[in-house]
Amino acid sequence: MRCRECGAEFELQATHVCEMCFGPLDVVYDQAALKKVVSRQRIEQGPKSMWRYRDLLPIEESTPVVTLGEGFTPLVKADRLGAELGLKNLYLKNDSMNPTNSFKDRVVSVAISWARANGFETIACASTGNLANSVAAYAARAGLECYVFIPVDLEPAKLVSIGVFDPNVVAVRGNYDEVNRLCSQLVESTPWAFCNINIRPFYAEGSKTLTFETAEQLGWKLPDEIIIPIASGCQFVRHRQAARELIEYGLVKEDRVPKYTGAQALGCSPVYNAFHSDTPERVLPVKPDTIARSIAIGNPSDGMYVNRIALETGGVVEAVTEEEIVDAIRLLARTEGIFTETAGGVTIGVLAKLAKAGRWQGDEVVVAYVTGHGLKTADVIASSNGHAHRVEIEPTLKSFREQVKI
Ligand SMILES: *Cc1c(COP(=O)(O)O)cnc(C)c1O
Ligand SMILES: [Zn+2]
Repeated sequence: MRCRECGAEFELQATHVCEMCFGPLDVVYDQAALKKVVSRQRIEQGPKSMWRYRDLLPIEESTPVVTLGEGFTPLVKADRLGAELGLKNLYLKNDSMNPTNSFKDRVVSVAISWARANGFETIACASTGNLANSVAAYAARAGLECYVFIPVDLEPAKLVSIGVFDPNVVAVRGNYDEVNRLCSQLVESTPWAFCNINIRPFYAEGSKTLTFETAEQLGWKLPDEIIIPIASGCQFVRHRQAARELIEYGLVKEDRVPKYTGAQALGCSPVYNAFHSDTPERVLPVKPDTIARSIAIGNPSDGMYVNRIALETGGVVEAVTEEEIVDAIRLLARTEGIFTETAGGVTIGVLAKLAKAGRWQGDEVVVAYVTGHGLKTADVIASSNGHAHRVEIEPTLKSFREQVKI
């Protein structure tokens, strides 16, 4: 592992901060050795899951993985949405098709595989919902003890899809940032693997597979721009690393990474606020107030790196209102038949906003990462006139003809 700030190197272990400078630690690989092994053909012969990218993940070949078939989700060419937005080459990476219906299954599958192989018996996490859902499912799959820490007022649908896996649920009277702070303190005094804290470097690596697959599904090409929702910013950072690795191993022909564009809800937009200030790398904490609960992190640990990467690659960080989030969920459903949660509404809302502002000529290959399923946050649609075209009739032809104008 290597410190992102000072470059100090450490043995692989359950730690996420540098003991010299407190910078974040990233897993690093022997790139020269990998270069000899990795090829398109070897990947294409692998399983139809994200584990076809195992060579580029921190789990050795001899280690059994904890898997539910995560990844290799559909990359959909969005012609109808694209037509509305003036984009001829718009694609959606539909990560709501993962086993627990969110992007988190990628990171959790890697994290729990590593934790089990390294002797951990209890898996834990601090979560805004999706991570707890995934951790509970994969801990059940692995037969490991599980503790999930969530804010006490989590959405009802998420409580059901966590509770069914029978983890120990610790509902904390506080917001996510307070839950996370508590868990950071607990890391010191428990022998547990907290997916998003002490084993975060391994967890983060799973994110890369989303970008690997996108390139493979585009015919081994990198897109021109990627739109990514930002919570902690963890996955955003790994997606640029993923593109760098694709280039390094000769898996794609391009020699430069895509533009990386971030999406936040205005009700929790610390990264967006900093991006549009004079000091983009100074991300000041905020108190979240948004329906996009799964990405409502007021104090995002990778926020400064998100802005650095957006600026370096020519991307931007944009934000949308609560109304724009709901409108975007409906727009995506109406044009493409995909029902996404509020985080997806943020991503599609930002995509639509940037398209309308004239960001693109029309021929660019733009990919939006749709990271979670709409049934997770169905209440936001139900409470906003969900059945605009509904009529109620008697079971007779007469009633039908009177009430339904065709
Ligand atoms: C966790 C999550 C994200 C963002 O993840 P970070 O890596 O923390 O930025 C985006 N969308 C959904 C649906 C998520 O659950
Ligand atoms: Zn350091």
